[in-house]
Amino acid sequence: MHIENDKYLLEGGVDPLVLVKKYGCPLYIYETSVMKRQYDRLTKAFHLKKLKINYACKALNNIAVLKYLKSLGTGLDTVSIQEARIGLLAGFQPDEIIYTPNCVSIEEISQAVELGVKINIDNLSILEQFGSLYPHYPICIRINPHIMAGGNSKISVGHIDSKFGISFHQTPLIHRIIKAHDMTVEGIHMHTGSDILDIDVFLQGAEILFQVAEEFKDLQYIDFGSGFKVPYKEEDIETDIEELGEKITVRFNEFCERYGRKLTLMFEPGKFLVSESGVFLVKVNVVKQTTSTVFAGVDSGLNHLIRPMLYDSYHKIVNISKTEGRSRIYTVVGYICETDTFGGQSQNDRNQ
Ligand SMILES: *Cc1c(COP(=O)(O)O)cnc(C)c1O
Repeated sequence: MHIENDKYLLEGGVDPLVLVKKYGCPLYIYETSVMKRQYDRLTKAFHLKKLKINYACKALNNIAVLKYLKSLGTGLDTVSIQEARIGLLAGFQPDEIIYTPNCVSIEEISQAVELGVKINIDNLSILEQFGSLYPHYPICIRINPHIMAGGNSKISVGHIDSKFGISFHQTPLIHRIIKAHDMTVEGIHMHTGSDILDIDVFLQGAEILFQVAEEFKDLQYIDFGSGFKVPYKEEDIETDIEELGEKITVRFNEFCERYGRKLTLMFEPGKFLVSESGVFLVKVNVVKQTTSTVFAGVDSGLNHLIRPMLYDSYHKIVNISKTEGRSRIYTVVGYICETDTFGGQSQNDRNQ
């Protein structure tokens, strides 16, 4: 959304208040033009013929959004069997869906085998069980490269104490299991966190992944996960995708040369593709002045937008129905009977 002549407008020049009149409030609006801009940036940054962007749908799994991203040419990254099913409903082919669960049962993974999606295994115990049940089903392996990356501890998932992935120090154990069951490893994967600004962290992770990948001879793809940092405030910086693209492309081409075959490079961005596309419109029901604070109580709550309460996330809040006049500081709260704050004075230092 941007301001033009004192009016907030959506990308295509649509007045959001007109949409409120038509659809009511609270209202989510997703601008496909923003998703397309971000997708095009990625595909330009990594100038490789064999590039696949798998949208990580836990960022936003609205089926209309999935259909739109499919129309752009993305695959889908899923973390639960339900997400894999939504992906199929949205029209993705099974081999365009990669399923990367963590700590789910082997029964759920068996359902993914039935769906025919790509399966990414992230622990040795499941690898062993999977190998004895489905030795001929090609798999991907999630490696933990032990790097500390991510905007905060809840979204950093690649460090040494993290529950995600198989430690790259345990590669000999992976090989032992693979050999015992005569399994085929078609992909190597990492995903180290969200909100990673420093591209050197990606590059370090990539080097570790290349080392591991070299020892697997049947690879079709290497998947570098995601975690690209997006701006939440005007002055926020974001991952320099263009620079990362240039550097990874060079290193990836060098790797493929050594490996003897052109592999597919995969990424699975969630936030990068969709976070700047969303606007959530609510109406103020009550303005409540207490002895210390002025609250604006809105017709929604953490049931509709949980990130501020769950992660202390920052979301920019603006008054779109009144852009002129004197500004005043409000604490914007929802209607849930727990602390339910979208943002306000004390949240100024929130940073994601
Ligand atoms: C969450 C997740 C992603 C996407 O992370 P973003 O920070 O939204 O880009 C990618 N891969 C896996 C396995 C994930 O769990």
